[in-house]
Amino acid sequence: MPVRPTPSITRRLYRAAITGLAAALAMNAPAAEPAPNPWLVSRDTYTEAQAAENLQRFAATYADAAGWTARADSLRRHILAGAQLEPLPPRTPLRPIERPARTHDGYSVANVAFESLPGFFVTGNLYRPAPASGVSTPRAHPAILVTHGHGDPAAGVRPAPGYQRLCASLARAGAVVLMIDMVGYGEAQQFPHKSDIALGLQLWNGLRALDYLESLPDVDASRLGMTGQSGGGTQTILLAAVDPRVRVSVPVTMVSAHFYGGCACESGMPVHRGPDFETNNAEIAALAAPRPQLLVSVGGDWTKNTPAVEFPYVQRVYTLLGAPQAVANVHLPDERHDYGPSKRRAAVAFLRRELGLPPLADEAPAPADGAPGEAGITIESRETLMVFDPAHPLPGHALATPEAVRAAFARR
Ligand SMILES: [Zn+2]
Repeated sequence: MPVRPTPSITRRLYRAAITGLAAALAMNAPAAEPAPNPWLVSRDTYTEAQAAENLQRFAATYADAAGWTARADSLRRHILAGAQLEPLPPRTPLRPIERPARTHDGYSVANVAFESLPGFFVTGNLYRPAPASGVSTPRAHPAILVTHGHGDPAAGVRPAPGYQRLCASLARAGAVVLMIDMVGYGEAQQFPHKSDIALGLQLWNGLRALDYLESLPDVDASRLGMTGQSGGGTQTILLAAVDPRVRVSVPVTMVSAHFYGGCACESGMPVHRGPDFETNNAEIAALAAPRPQLLVSVGGDWTKNTPAVEFPYVQRVYTLLGAPQAVANVHLPDERHDYGPSKRRAAVAFLRRELGLPPLADEAPAPADGAPGEAGITIESRETLMVFDPAHPLPGHALATPEAVRAAFARR
């Protein structure tokens, strides 16, 4: 059942939209600023108290599993429509590229790419368990998609040592792990990051990443997990909300009722509110219920209220669906906004357990700045991790301009 938007916020939104429209129509001045994005949620949009009140208002709209299911179905439709994914673009051939893998201590790394739209490349790294017998068993491994948050767009975030450790330690545990670039980050430079369709493009890339993982002969498609921190956490909750193939999710330092990160890729399209609905990231996280989910939160960012505000809301939904134990919160009050060792430790333990992998041995050694189970992982250079370089350029049919990418995304 749609919820009536808060009148003051709705008025503010439409005023902003109309101002933006007026600015767009008054294009006489060639140096006019682009119209402001009316959907962006800033740090000033909601107070913490307003956010908590919003959750109470949402909670009052349903009282049982059937009521929640109806609301959840409506929210999923609004998210897909708001992300310009209704209807979904056609599932065109992925045409994957997989470079030769490098073998390390208990795992391997390959540089990979696939086309989420014809000529639009998603770039990443594929970490695989080293086969014990030298031959990989078909459909033997669960798979995990890893998405990242913001940093230096030119350098990219995918090569960060913490992410290499996260992916490699999960691969050594027995999972096939795919980490992909955000749009406009690292190698993924066919479209700029801060754009009005960044959220939709990234959600579509995530959905196609699941298609890609399902297509791998060694992946058990019934065991797909996903984790990401900050903007990667946003991608995690959005994809888990709309795609039931995400069986286990671990959004890290992101799920907050009062702030959604502030970037166009997180709230730049109408997935949180519109003329006839309103939701927030705590409720979007609840859309994963009853599938297992771990919320990792900290005292040093906008997830500081999670144990008191967001987690109880999410857990109520899981309880209505008969699965209160399937959702958990690890709160680290003295920590800040990152995917550091203690967060990786919690996330990896949860993913291992919920995806049917053996638990980490208590005595697993940790490197000086890492988590248990991360000793002996090889940190590769940025250059080594790239799919495309002067010797292996983007294929000739790659879309050459942002306008071409926009047209491909809009094509149905
Ligand atoms: Zn962003």
